[in-house]
Amino acid sequence: MQANIVTLPGDGIGVEVVAEGVKVLQAVATKFGHTFTFENHLIGGCAIDATGEPLPASTLEACKRADAVLLGAVGGPKWDDPAAKVRPEQGLLGLRKGLALYANLRPVQIFPQLRDASPLRPERLEGVDLVVVRELTGGLYFGPRKEATPGDMTAYDTMLYADFEVERIARKAFELARLRRKKVTSVDKANVLAASRLWRRVITAIAADYPDVMLEHMLVDAAAMHLMRRPADFDVIVTENMFGDILTDEASMLSGSMGMLASASLGEGRNGVYEPIHGSAPDIAGKGIANPLATILSVALLLRYSLGLETEAAAVEKAVADVVAAGYRTKDIYTEGAKLVNTQEMGDAVIATLG
Ligand code: NAD
Repeated sequence: MQANIVTLPGDGIGVEVVAEGVKVLQAVATKFGHTFTFENHLIGGCAIDATGEPLPASTLEACKRADAVLLGAVGGPKWDDPAAKVRPEQGLLGLRKGLALYANLRPVQIFPQLRDASPLRPERLEGVDLVVVRELTGGLYFGPRKEATPGDMTAYDTMLYADFEVERIARKAFELARLRRKKVTSVDKANVLAASRLWRRVITAIAADYPDVMLEHMLVDAAAMHLMRRPADFDVIVTENMFGDILTDEASMLSGSMGMLASASLGEGRNGVYEPIHGSAPDIAGKGIANPLATILSVALLLRYSLGLETEAAAVEKAVADVVAAGYRTKDIYTEGAKLVNTQEMGDAVIATLG
């Protein structure tokens, strides 16, 4: 097949890990007989420096035309002033809004060989294989708000949902669960929040269309606890924007390394934005030691969800698992006796394993 992929390396290690992701996509194209073309664009801090905008119009236009978007990370100390009017992360929010990407999928799997990297006891991690489906364009981060101007005594944010917003994210979660262990845990705060009571009502109604999928409701505070206590019981978790933001970071600790976790942001069409969950890691940027596996696993999600190439996606995931099993480690996941490799060598190892 032919596909046009926009790459947005962004800042810091984003540049280094996206380069490895592109290498893997090129290897997939060669091995499976596809033609992928790549278009590189600016986002985040580097875009602010070059154009004054975190998301230049030319970047958004290119992403809209693309079949899929591979993103690195944005931000860094240079642009970190929280009072600044223009900030790198506005590029991410603008991109999600501009492409109407309302569902963020974050799979959490445990690589058996990396179990010791998790702060949880290894036996707790047995069988952990879950996906958090986070609503991405509504809820507390997008509702009406009032900023406190100097001297103001109040500020507020609003958790606002319309039923159609809950319905479409619910359907994404149930469809996904059908391809997995057929269980959805909907996380809300329905004992306190009106928006959560609407959320629960709509999710329950949609569940009737998926009688083969088991639905449970869980309050967000309980979910935070059970994610640590019995993480293997979860299959698909669907939740509000800010709840999802917090729970996905918590869930990432199950795997023990930020460098291993991928994400996909999807809307109605096939186009999507694929990115590692980690940031630009200014502390290691430019050293060539960043772990590219989260980005390479994001490439697998891109192949699966935007290009519909399941065999290729599974081949990339297997190559990553095999490389980890063979003992290749970047510094962040290194343990005594393993093969210490840099960013490029890890990418090369995945490609060599892919064959
Ligand atoms: P971070 O994820 O960049 O780094 C946290 C720690 O994990 C650091 O010690 C870093 O070295 C390490 N780490 C992260 N990814 C790694 C990888 N692939 N390989 C090896 N080690 C890795 O989070 P932070 O330090 O809180 O944020 C740094 C900057 O990134 C900030 O400007 C922040 O706003 C931004 N950020 C961007 C995104 C995004 O673009 N989606 C997400 C989170 C943070």
